Amino acid sequence: MNRRTKIIATIGPSCADETTMKAMVEAGMDVARLNLSHGAIDDHLERLGQLRKVAEVVGRPIGVLADLPGPKVRLGSLESPLALAVNDEIDLVPGDGMSVAGRFTVGYESLLADIHVGDKLAIGDGSIVLQVIEHNNDSLRVQVLFGGNVQGRPGLHIPSDRLRLATPTDVDLKYLDAMIEADVDMVALSFVRSAHDVRRAGVEPAPRGPLIVAKIETRAAVENLDGIISESGAIMVARGDLGTECSIQDLPHLQKSIISRCIALGRPAITATQMLESMITAPSPTRAEASDVANAVFDGTSAVMLSAETAIGQDPAHVVATMASIAHRADQEFNYNRWGKDLQREHLTERQSGDSDVTDVMTMATWQAAREIGAVAICCISRSGFTVRAIARFRPQAPILGFSPEDRTVRQLTMSWGATPIKIDRIDDNDITALKVLEIAKANGHIRTGDIVAVLGGSSATVGATDTLRMVRCP
Ligand code: PGA
Ligand code: MN
Repeated sequence: MNRRTKIIATIGPSCADETTMKAMVEAGMDVARLNLSHGAIDDHLERLGQLRKVAEVVGRPIGVLADLPGPKVRLGSLESPLALAVNDEIDLVPGDGMSVAGRFTVGYESLLADIHVGDKLAIGDGSIVLQVIEHNNDSLRVQVLFGGNVQGRPGLHIPSDRLRLATPTDVDLKYLDAMIEADVDMVALSFVRSAHDVRRAGVEPAPRGPLIVAKIETRAAVENLDGIISESGAIMVARGDLGTECSIQDLPHLQKSIISRCIALGRPAITATQMLESMITAPSPTRAEASDVANAVFDGTSAVMLSAETAIGQDPAHVVATMASIAHRADQEFNYNRWGKDLQREHLTERQSGDSDVTDVMTMATWQAAREIGAVAICCISRSGFTVRAIARFRPQAPILGFSPEDRTVRQLTMSWGATPIKIDRIDDNDITALKVLEIAKANGHIRTGDIVAVLGGSSATVGATDTLRMVRCP
């Protein structure tokens, strides 16, 4: 059985060559993430080209996700690494000069207007915490609550309800244009607070435009979750910043509730940050990390993500292989019946007859028929991938084969739970296409003669709606 949970790995200095990228694909990377918060845009564009070549060589579609920085505030560069101890006091001044011991510059103009005494600010990944104790004319005095080492040009986390900067920023929109020009598959927006932020990206709906991934990492986004999900193609539970914005004890429960809303609304959900953090330097994960990956699978996540583990880690392909094996094992223990039954119950209690759309009822019928008859696979013929994602809502036991004539759809489906994306030349007459996909599925070893297979598709090449379900015995 193929792995159902997808793997996203961040490309960085440790894996910027085609040999390592190929090893990562072979180890199980489904989607490559370019983190535009670091490095030059031209380098990322070059990596996109390298990834396309590697996918061609390996013969498997690989999705590419460009992650936009969003309004990230940074400290001015530190001359040398510094150790901050508890109770140390520092002055924060708005500006872009160098930071020195005792006086840090902050790249945020309205720092003094927006931040109040008592506010907590965090440095880097959030482990160093500062509290504002004095508000002066030209600076803020902060006291270190939790210390640690700072170096380089670390980020400064400002609570999102204090931050006036909107996302996407002008820089984001410039990067977005460059990435769309280069035909990227998916784009992540950082620090969104509302559905309006997602609309401001202004991209064409997928698959003509990239699939938009809204990162849930502000308190406002948690409050406006359903609106953001509806406006987006997928969601990321961005635990790094979300864990700084919210109480840490709330984080595991937010992860569960965000993922479950995504599944119900037919959008892929990504679980991100520190999943195998110790493997940046260690050859095996901690026990807690192994459990974290498996538990994210049980939460229903569509994909699990690697950040620094592959971007700057010592053995990117090995980390991918480790994550793939933990996820694959967890897939085998997954409760496949639960999700579909929950959706069905919700559907029966919430919806009045006549209120559902065709994709809704057809995917539900497909899930139910495939389950009752023990279908070996669900073949789904879909131009935009929408129907494949709608089937994935039910988390069916039968593998989903997603057939599309659109290259971008095929690459966008690399992120969808349970779906094996397969390119077909065209969607002809429905009967012909149904036979054709069975042939391809058989040739690729997904099904055998005599297997019962569900085939879901539209009734003609011109009509977009998915309206035909066949339960066929594979010839
Ligand atoms: P980042 O997003 O790595 O771009 O900050 C992920 C997160 O916040 O967890
Ligand atoms: Mn983040």
